Amino acid sequence: MPSEFALIERHFKRPARHSVLGVGDDAAIVRPAPGMEIVVTTDMLVAGTHFLPDADPADLGWKTLAVNLSDLAAMGALPRWALLSLALPADKAADEAWLAAYAEGFFACADTFAVDLIGGDTTRGPLAFNVTLFGEIPAGQALLRSAARPADEIWISGTLGLATLGLAQRQARCRLMEPLRSACLRALDRPQPRIALGRALAQDGLAHAAIDVSDGLLADLGHILERSQATATLHFDRLPAAVLYCGNDVDARLATDCLLGGGDDYELAFTAPAARHEDILALGARLQIPLTCIGTVAAGPAGRIHLLDADGREMSPARRGYDHFAPATADTDTAEKKT
Ligand code: ADP
Ligand code: MG
Repeated sequence: MPSEFALIERHFKRPARHSVLGVGDDAAIVRPAPGMEIVVTTDMLVAGTHFLPDADPADLGWKTLAVNLSDLAAMGALPRWALLSLALPADKAADEAWLAAYAEGFFACADTFAVDLIGGDTTRGPLAFNVTLFGEIPAGQALLRSAARPADEIWISGTLGLATLGLAQRQARCRLMEPLRSACLRALDRPQPRIALGRALAQDGLAHAAIDVSDGLLADLGHILERSQATATLHFDRLPAAVLYCGNDVDARLATDCLLGGGDDYELAFTAPAARHEDILALGARLQIPLTCIGTVAAGPAGRIHLLDADGREMSPARRGYDHFAPATADTDTAEKKT
């Protein structure tokens, strides 16, 4: 088995691009650009809770960083520096091919989003990964959950529920045809954080509030509404997904669950003044990301969401999203539910 130091040297030491000092000393050194604020986030992935223990290592490497990038996207920040902590059981620490594949997936994501890995920690233990990610944003520009205002429109990027459908496919709870099947598995295994969208929304002052959908649309939008002391109306028939599910063997309950409570999508939900509607559509066209207006914010009880069907009747969804510490129900799966 390689020593801890050999393992770090072989797999996790790469030249840093925009850091003063990277991996190899007692600590790293970075220098933020003048006028920038530092935005920091951390997320942990634990075997059996966030991924199945036999998951593909390259996908895991990608995803450990991608879920953190998504949090910076939701703030509107530009990602810069990452710390990576690994707990490895003996069989994984001894498995050079597994480690190389994990590192390859991690650095594929780091290279895509120009992130420097500048340090971390490596220890023996039950398989788990933790990333701490630092980004930069011009002072005062960050998109806060608390900044939604009455009369704002509510927008969502991309398509909802793909990752949850991918998990259902992998667990044989539905049977998807191509090309939906590959799209769903890719959404689950290689989520694409919406960094460019978040930056543009913050930079151009287009959005007021934003969040990334990691626990499900209703739960995550609920966080914006609670922090902003506001209510929302959502139109179920406007949610971007229904068309894609057509012709597939997905029962209606699973489809609704994927749309409203599906975690792991890492799309951005954001609110913006109605006067910027056309600018937001133009931004979506420029970035080639579908952006869909799905509802409006109103003054009212904090956190409440009125979900309307195509006829304007109020719907009452069964479940809001995933909560690690909620009492177990028949709906609660163990692995790969949330990050
Ligand atoms: P110390 O004992 O001083 O904490 P370590 O032996 O833990 O130092 O780490 C040595 C160097 O390797 C440090 O620069 C640390 O940040 C880096 N490092 C450790 N584990 C990882 C990892 N998984 N990925 C990247 N860098 C790591
Ligand atoms: Mg250490």
